Amino acid sequence: MVNQLVIIGAGPAGMMAAIAASEKGTKVLLLDRNRSIGQKLLISGAGRCNLTSNIPVEQFFENYHNGDFLRNAFAQFSNEDLMKFFIDNGIMLDVERGHRVFPASKSAEDIVKFFRNILDKHNVQLWFRNRVIKIEKMDDGIFKIISKKGEIFAKSVIIATGGKSYPGTGSTGDGYKIARLLGHTIIKPVGVLTGFNLKEQWISQWQGISLKNVMVKAIVRDKIIAEEFGEMLFTHYGISGPAVLDLSRAIAGLNGSNIKISIDFKPALDEKTLETRLIREFSGNSNKSLRNIMKNLIPQNIIEEFLLMGGLSGEIKGNQINVLQRKTILSLLKNFQLTFDSLRGFDEAIVTRGGVSVKEVNPKTMESKIVPGLFFAGEVLDIDGKTGGFNLQAAFSTGFVAGKNA
Ligand SMILES: Cc1cc2nc3c(=O)[nH]c(=O)nc-3n(C[C@H](O)[C@H](O)[C@H](O)COP(=O)(O)OP(=O)(O)OC[C@H]3O[C@@H](n4cnc5c(N)ncnc54)[C@H](O)[C@@H]3O)c2cc1C
Repeated sequence: MVNQLVIIGAGPAGMMAAIAASEKGTKVLLLDRNRSIGQKLLISGAGRCNLTSNIPVEQFFENYHNGDFLRNAFAQFSNEDLMKFFIDNGIMLDVERGHRVFPASKSAEDIVKFFRNILDKHNVQLWFRNRVIKIEKMDDGIFKIISKKGEIFAKSVIIATGGKSYPGTGSTGDGYKIARLLGHTIIKPVGVLTGFNLKEQWISQWQGISLKNVMVKAIVRDKIIAEEFGEMLFTHYGISGPAVLDLSRAIAGLNGSNIKISIDFKPALDEKTLETRLIREFSGNSNKSLRNIMKNLIPQNIIEEFLLMGGLSGEIKGNQINVLQRKTILSLLKNFQLTFDSLRGFDEAIVTRGGVSVKEVNPKTMESKIVPGLFFAGEVLDIDGKTGGFNLQAAFSTGFVAGKNA
């Protein structure tokens, strides 16, 4: 038996592709190696599922690696379309800080259940615990899909196997091998949206401390190559948190030995304004110790190490602080430098940079330019976005387009 369309991978991209294809009357077989759909979706947004962003659609593309490739897909299925799709099908949405769109129930589990219902309603045939190993295109144009449970035949195939990060969810990079054997170029995968290991061993003492409204910068040979504003977190290995995760996208692929990380604790104040503030703090607290005065400027639990970095005694009084010491404090507040060691790797990366080269995929249809009838959708493509719902939106948009055209 030859299936009309086989989709490999029941993540957001594969599921949306199945829905779009069956809506135009195509019979779909959706395969996954897991025992159920949407394993990664289930843990997305810390179990709350940040579905998309409600920024204007034209602002999306700058938030992606290879964002221009997505323009066509978004013209066919944008964030507005995705939000309408959920609302029309009974899922209430909420918008949180930073334009992040969540299900109102704040439950990724609800979203997974919702997809299961829609797939059933559309009579999408599901086949779980079946891992695809290889795909061949035969002389008659039919695809032979070699899976753990035997050979499957199809007129069209969509590869929606995801990236290589969080491999426990089923995405172990199989799609790359399958696509490479079909003649596609695979851009070397790197795990991004991840924390940084730092060279400073003492940083583990700051484990658990989080900083809000800081600017984190990546510096290579005295040049700022990227910066992100927001929240960061110190961990046993180094740093993490939203601003750091987003910064990891700029560092991916660079030579780690040259990278310095700089924290600006007071990004809202330029050096001159901050210096005036310091003068005020020191003169207004002339009999207080520097250790105590610093509590007005940075979290208490980082003060000792901060002073150590500047070679400053916590005991000196406000009225004893000289110009050089003030300049040292100013410089540490604006440019507290740490040494990058490496990214945390695939086990902890939220998303994968790299994958199937978008140059070999038609952006209007998601069809392979090399193998007609073969389509790609989601993270298996060399596309990745910032935190904030961009990655799920890319999976849904490319999934919709692949399903519509396959
Ligand atoms: C912890 C975490 C939190 C996240 N939170 C968010 C968030 O809140 N918002 C956001 O926008 N993005 C988030 N992301 C990213 C987002 O979840 C992914 O980008 C998205 O799931 C990609 O969708 P996909 O369908 O392309 O791939 P996946 O969701 O990875 O699905 C791929 C599917 O293919 C299956 N598969 C793989 N290989 C085979 C094979 N050989 N045979 C059969 N089946 C196979 C897998 O089992 C899997 O079910 C998060 C990621 C993680 C890890």
